[in-house]
Amino acid sequence: MEKKSLYINHDLCKACGGKCCLHSGCSYSPTDFGTITLARLKEKLESGLASIVAQFDIFEDGVSYHLAIRSRNLDRGIVDLFSAKNTCCALGENGCTFSDDERPYGGISLVPKENFQCENLYSDQIAYKEWLPYQKLLERLVRLYTNMGSSEKLREDIIQAAYLLTYQHTVLKDGKLVLHTDNLNQAEQEILDTLNVILPTYKEEVELGMSKAKNKLLKK
Ligand code: SF4
Ligand code: SF4
Repeated sequence: MEKKSLYINHDLCKACGGKCCLHSGCSYSPTDFGTITLARLKEKLESGLASIVAQFDIFEDGVSYHLAIRSRNLDRGIVDLFSAKNTCCALGENGCTFSDDERPYGGISLVPKENFQCENLYSDQIAYKEWLPYQKLLERLVRLYTNMGSSEKLREDIIQAAYLLTYQHTVLKDGKLVLHTDNLNQAEQEILDTLNVILPTYKEEVELGMSKAKNKLLKK
């Protein structure tokens, strides 16, 4: 399918070095796939270039999520629900290695700015509305690849994210375990921020991940 972007600015993105792609792949829109079928989504996911992710929807009384497809992050799998921040696998030396026509809609909807504070016109709210009709299909795919429902897999991913963050940034000091958050890199800071946002709904999972990490550190 041919796509046209009014916004792609190869020179500016090359000069920037792909800052927006360093910490996450961009979002696919259902329109990137033409008519959506299970076979078409499987083909894209199994190409190694895309993952199923969960995007959190924040409400006054808690957090929900919807499933969507995003360009795959390095070292991540087909199902990457708590998409821990990582560089997009399609980022090359000179920016995005996809042709303009192949680039996910989220990527062609970025409006590059001279100060690199670029504007994303494909917001999570738009993605939510677009992917809503395909939730059952994506849920089937999550089960196919993980043998779990998405809610169970997401809980597992949140426990793992909390575990890794705690394990990497906790030290034993004066007989106590102390979590240091002042030396987090940008990706870790974003993971911490997301964990804080979803904490009211996923407190048990975050606490479980943290306590697993602390137990392991104490056994060292
Ligand atoms: S869209 Fe903006 S942040 Fe992303 S690579 Fe281009 S200039 Fe950099
Ligand atoms: S697909 Fe291209 S534009 Fe999108 S995040 Fe990856 S490298 Fe960047």
